[in-house]
Amino acid sequence: MSEAAEMEQNPPSSSAAAVLLQSAIAAIPEGEERAEQLQMTQAVEHAFSAKQHLAVQGPTGVGKSIAYLIPAILGALSGSRTVIVTSSKALQDQLASVELPFLRRVLDQPFTYSVLKGRSNYVCEAAVAEVRVQLGGAGQQGLDLGPQDSLGDVDLSDAELRDEVLEILDWAEGSATGDMAELPITPHWKAWSAVSVGPGECVGASKCSYASDCKSEQARAAAEDAEIVVVNAHLYGAHIQTGGTLLPAHNQLVIDEAHEFEDSIVGSLSIELTEGRLSNLARVHDRCVAAEDKVSGSLRSAGAMLEACMDGIAGSGTVRLTSGLGEDLAAAVSTAAVAADRALNSLRAAAKHAGESTAKHRIERSVRIAESVVDDTQSLLGKLGKGTVLWVEPTRNYRHVLRLTRIDVADTLRSQAWAEKALTVVCCSATLDSGTASRLGLEAEYLSVPSPFNFRDQAVLFVPKIHRPTHPDWAEEVAQEVEHVIRALSGRTLALFTSNRMLRSTVDLCRERLEGFTLLAQGDAPNPVLQDQFLNDEHASLFATASFWTGISSPGPTCSAVILDKIPFPVPTDPIVQARCEVVGDAAFMEVSVPAAGMQLAQGVGRLIRTATDRGVVVVCDPRLAEAQYRNRILDLLPPMRRVRNREFLDQFIRDLELD
Ligand code: SF4
Repeated sequence: MSEAAEMEQNPPSSSAAAVLLQSAIAAIPEGEERAEQLQMTQAVEHAFSAKQHLAVQGPTGVGKSIAYLIPAILGALSGSRTVIVTSSKALQDQLASVELPFLRRVLDQPFTYSVLKGRSNYVCEAAVAEVRVQLGGAGQQGLDLGPQDSLGDVDLSDAELRDEVLEILDWAEGSATGDMAELPITPHWKAWSAVSVGPGECVGASKCSYASDCKSEQARAAAEDAEIVVVNAHLYGAHIQTGGTLLPAHNQLVIDEAHEFEDSIVGSLSIELTEGRLSNLARVHDRCVAAEDKVSGSLRSAGAMLEACMDGIAGSGTVRLTSGLGEDLAAAVSTAAVAADRALNSLRAAAKHAGESTAKHRIERSVRIAESVVDDTQSLLGKLGKGTVLWVEPTRNYRHVLRLTRIDVADTLRSQAWAEKALTVVCCSATLDSGTASRLGLEAEYLSVPSPFNFRDQAVLFVPKIHRPTHPDWAEEVAQEVEHVIRALSGRTLALFTSNRMLRSTVDLCRERLEGFTLLAQGDAPNPVLQDQFLNDEHASLFATASFWTGISSPGPTCSAVILDKIPFPVPTDPIVQARCEVVGDAAFMEVSVPAAGMQLAQGVGRLIRTATDRGVVVVCDPRLAEAQYRNRILDLLPPMRRVRNREFLDQFIRDLELD
């Protein structure tokens, strides 16, 4: 029997973690001791002390963050440093502003913690100085840099942007952290990029005369001193990619929402080249080395050549390049590489002759931008190795993008992150299958903590007897199901769709048929606004796509139904999905697509029951969930709700909720 399984049967009753957990729960008004939380915290404590990787599936309601933070605090007391990786910056901020201060207060344990984000999240003092100079000179020229390199196309003669930049400058003067999350406004990305730098642009503290006031450097220094460091998956990916240079040494790692970590790492390992990136470098170059217009001219024509070539290959679709760039695209990328190299040399020469001034900083930041274009074009020109995927795809902003990434995440993590370090890794998520850890290159114990909720009484899973999604009548049938549930529950419904097209057609039909109901639709207003409206109006219903499958929590009757249009299989034409399937071969559907769909479906379903008193229905408008051979592989990943296909039962369950 594995150690985790043994612990599951015979949990030690009074470990140090158990004692601290008891104190923490006692300090929460109406806090309840939960056996599931105790089981998880002890398993994490044991994993850290035995230096054994652990993967924990901990359903909603277990209280996962407290369960892993307590062993991290215990580690701090014995000289360990734990890095906590969250899936988003919002979760980072939540741990730092809620859970960690609470535990420090109530446990009376002397531990230190800090939050660290990527450079572009902090105000850059060098960029601020440059903007101030520009604004002082009426700001007619603008910074005019591009989003790939994070400074953005900022035309300070645009009154709205200029006002936002001024507001940020005011705030920055009094901000202790310079962290964008603390800004009282949500600025346009162009305004923020005028006062910040991306990781590729910062000249480095040793070369920067603003380093002593640099908020990003201060956050790094705080992380060096902290025993618990909270980062997001993107920053951890960058840490791995840069050979472990961004974070302080640590011997314990917790990956929260670990089911998303593989994709985050794939994103961190990817390279992109666009016409916009080359013309951005041309603009940057023009601003620093005005006389060298031949250099920027060649960058612009290389960009146009690249775009024309990508358009010829991909048009409006995505095309994977399984045999490499091909003659024409290789020629375009080579031309770009040569032009970028010339720009780099010209910028380096300019940097040598610049005195100590904001102009020197601008040139040095531009050197970094040119270096990253040179590096990336060289990587694109390299041989397409095993585990790499290359493709061209159309994008909203840049017409086409050439992308290169690695999908051999397990090998990369094994060799670059886990191998040489005495690092113990704990992965956890509400939806984690037993294969997640091995996909991350870890040999880990697997523990599935039971849910503290009674799903059989609290929820019903209803699969209507309708056509499959490929049938022409299916979309109309889905609209009828949604209409039926919204009427029966007087709103209170979250309808989740796998495509924007399906969302729009369903909400349009429902709006015609459900007069007087509040039907909110993603795209009609910013997501946070829609979320607030849904949470604050119990009778509202929300129609949404991808981001709401995971990002919304609405305890109570506000969300009494979650409707999912169909099983969210990964898009088979996605180059990364294709490449992952090729690695697995004939079993790809069962080993790649079905588990991915099951975990995504479980995330959507997980929006329904958030507390022990919540009750409601899940409707999946896809009969394959009740009929297909693979159905049990997916159903096993869902909470143990009562499963029905009988509409009478569903209607009776809804009536029994006794909602007005
Ligand atoms: S070190 Fe200098 S250039 Fe880098 S982020 Fe800090 S202030 Fe900006």
